[in-house]
Amino acid sequence: ESITVQELANRMAEKGADLVKALFKMGTAVTLNQPIDQDTAELLVEEFGHRIQRVSDADVEIGMQGEDDAAETLKARPPVVTIMGHVDHGKTSLLDALRGTSVVSGESGGITQHIGAYQIKTKGGDLITFLDTPGHEAFSEMRARGANVTDIVILVVAADDGLMPQTIEAINHTKAAGVPMIVAINKCDKPEANPQKVRERLLEHEVIVEDMGGETQDVEVSALKKQGLDTLIDKILLQSELLELVANPDRAAEGNVIEAQLDKGRGAVATILVRRGTLKVGDTFVVGAESGKVRAMINDQGQQVKSAGPSTPVEVLGLSGVPMAGDQMTVVENEARAREVAAYRQEQATKKRTTAAPTSFEHMFSALNTQVIEYPVVVKGDVQGSVEAIVSSLNKISTDEIKVRILHSGVGAITESDVTLAAASRAPLIGFNVRPNAKARQLAEREKISLRYYDVIYDLLEEVRGEMAGQLAPER
Ligand code: GDP
Repeated sequence: ESITVQELANRMAEKGADLVKALFKMGTAVTLNQPIDQDTAELLVEEFGHRIQRVSDADVEIGMQGEDDAAETLKARPPVVTIMGHVDHGKTSLLDALRGTSVVSGESGGITQHIGAYQIKTKGGDLITFLDTPGHEAFSEMRARGANVTDIVILVVAADDGLMPQTIEAINHTKAAGVPMIVAINKCDKPEANPQKVRERLLEHEVIVEDMGGETQDVEVSALKKQGLDTLIDKILLQSELLELVANPDRAAEGNVIEAQLDKGRGAVATILVRRGTLKVGDTFVVGAESGKVRAMINDQGQQVKSAGPSTPVEVLGLSGVPMAGDQMTVVENEARAREVAAYRQEQATKKRTTAAPTSFEHMFSALNTQVIEYPVVVKGDVQGSVEAIVSSLNKISTDEIKVRILHSGVGAITESDVTLAAASRAPLIGFNVRPNAKARQLAEREKISLRYYDVIYDLLEEVRGEMAGQLAPER
């Protein structure tokens, strides 16, 4: 474990140059960006008169997934829905149309605010939360940060255009996340619409709608003419019932950042989607590596609210700094505790940045409930023929014990979307005669994704086969 001089300086709120000087006196010549080991770091910390503060992992382990709420405290909560699909297939139009169906409560006359998520109230009085950033990049980015906030994905496919590359990407991202999907076949008002063809093409991607004997719900809609929206809402509610979504509303709140920014007048603001508990004005919290106290909360209608329960999105004022999308918010008992947890998280984040090995093959295997080990991978290639050949060869080298799982394959340069998908499953990304674009490369570096380039299929297969065999070999 190591930390760079600069990072240590940041954490001690000292000048980096002063640390370098002190180290020099101790007989070590280093530059600011050079890593130093734990012992040296501790010596320095003492040298500068700081106390080494250790917070035990268990102490701050926050049980988002931990089922530590007793069964009798759990109450039904609204589903959280994300809309995905190809560009121009009508994601934004559908989000707007669905928002328009909401039964406005009383004469409060709120004004629509774009805070990154909104909630509708159906005619039957049920609530549904929609994340307002369509697309799978945001979805997988959040997931890569450990925030699986989406309960249901609506896949929008334009009936006049059919399945397009981003439709397929969206399907793959959704499958990788294990989130149920409802297919909204949009633009059915158009004379050239062919919804049946969409259903058929979906079969090729193992999305089998009910009419075809499968379990995926589908619905024909027109976002433009506002047709089919009630049916879509009914299907969301049905899916939600099947999922039995629950949370304990009567506890300290936990949530995730949907979006955050520095606002000129109001300082750092973040939209928080409450996951469990109830967030209240005055609560002290930690969010990512920031802390704060809820000064005010504003809902998606622009109204100030005093509290927000599970699945409710609210804009929160009173943060010490701007957190990142996906960051977890946790309400804590007091400010000292908030600072402690924030410092601990910063430390963890630093550690991850400085010591996380690139997704080496060991990290990529995920044991399933069955005994089969999965080997997830994303494949991009220059031509359809070689991509198909690689995918089918990779599938063939699967054995009873270890199985290749192609999260996504496609033709073209490696994009950010490919990287976020790989990152979310800690999978390697294979490029056959293709390279990443600049943004994708930067993201891959940040996410420590293993990028592998090949120009000979044989080499690619040999290497994967070797890694798979190595993974199965008994330890020691
Ligand atoms: P996005 O890129 O997926 O968010 O797509 P948009 O919502 O921006 O829609 C792209 C275009 O398709 C716009 O010109 C919309 O007016 C149009 N559009 C969206 N939904 C429908 C629909 O149901 N019927 C028709 N005819 N056009 C639609």
